[in-house]
Amino acid sequence: MAAPKAHALVHRVLAECPVTKARVCELMLPHGPISTPVFMPVGTQGTMKGVTADQLRELGCEICLGNTYHLGMRPGPEIMKKASGLHGFMNWKRNLLTDSGGFQMVSLVELSQVTEEGVHFKSPYDDKEILLTPEKSIEIQNALGSDIMMQLDDVVSSTISGPRVEEAMHRSVRWLDRCLLANKNPEKQCLFAIIQGGLDPDLRKKCLEEMTKRDVPGFAIGGLSGGEEKDHFWKMVTLSTDHLPRDKPRYLMGVGYATDLVVCVALGCDMFDCVFPTRTARFGSALVPWGSLQLKNKQFAKDFQPIDKECDCPTCKRYSRAYINALFKSDTAAMHHITIHNIAYQLNLMRSVRDSILRGQFPQFIQDFMKTMYGSKERYPRWAVDALESVSIALI
Ligand SMILES: [Zn+2]
Repeated sequence: MAAPKAHALVHRVLAECPVTKARVCELMLPHGPISTPVFMPVGTQGTMKGVTADQLRELGCEICLGNTYHLGMRPGPEIMKKASGLHGFMNWKRNLLTDSGGFQMVSLVELSQVTEEGVHFKSPYDDKEILLTPEKSIEIQNALGSDIMMQLDDVVSSTISGPRVEEAMHRSVRWLDRCLLANKNPEKQCLFAIIQGGLDPDLRKKCLEEMTKRDVPGFAIGGLSGGEEKDHFWKMVTLSTDHLPRDKPRYLMGVGYATDLVVCVALGCDMFDCVFPTRTARFGSALVPWGSLQLKNKQFAKDFQPIDKECDCPTCKRYSRAYINALFKSDTAAMHHITIHNIAYQLNLMRSVRDSILRGQFPQFIQDFMKTMYGSKERYPRWAVDALESVSIALI
């Protein structure tokens, strides 16, 4: 057998929770190490809405997401190459993960059609017919120079079932092979596979069996978090982590609510992304350990506390709830301050998760987290109780 190729990623398991499937790992990537479990904020068009690369770095962010669909179209791969890739374009010296562009197409463009060749769609910018193939997606991501690239997969809604789900799963395996062949820069850019199979355990298992035969440096769990019932969601997550190799990172796509993060870490996931914390900030909602604060509400007009007195982010150090409430009347700066806080909240949450796993106290962390978030046991979401029970955590 040929020796496995060198990847742009070295993965080390540092600690494993003796009760749940949670673990702390270190990923060595071309732009530095990252510690998992990790939440990766989502950037669009090279800048986080309302946040600069410098601010992200100051918050301790080690990896963020770049959006292939937008960047591949505008400014386009040629300009990206001239700017020394997305790192140069954004002035971001840490790690970047890019998506394949496929998901945006399915979600943003109504007139998309999938064939074996690729995804056909009309450009929303100039109405031109575009074909995104696995090869084209990797060509764009190679030009962007991201540390982690995602394969193009055949995305179907998590709420549909039947033969289309099976077709999409098999096609995603074939497209993974085409993406692996197309990667011109495997020493500097890792390519992650995306497990599909909808909510069907047999299809998921078949996909896991096929994809784990390939020499890929990491795996994503895809096709979830799209409006399916939470009970189906966590069962597919835990089935996937049961069949994924221990020595490779597991990225659960599109998950970002605090409870979902804590539960899915317990189910064995390492990496997460979601637009939720930044999107909800733009609507005035600040994330706190006991839920969220709607800072536009007039109850905060005379509230001179910081958003969260335990939070050490630049917003909480400088501004009160009352100040942010007043800013909403005149300025977009309010959204900016909340965005910073919400990203800090996600990063701090994951830091606490990692610390508790390293100290062997993750089960206690979960108990405390749930109590703070929901107050009493009667208010715990049923699915979270069941999911945690499946990894030997009985919530008290
Ligand atoms: Zn804060």
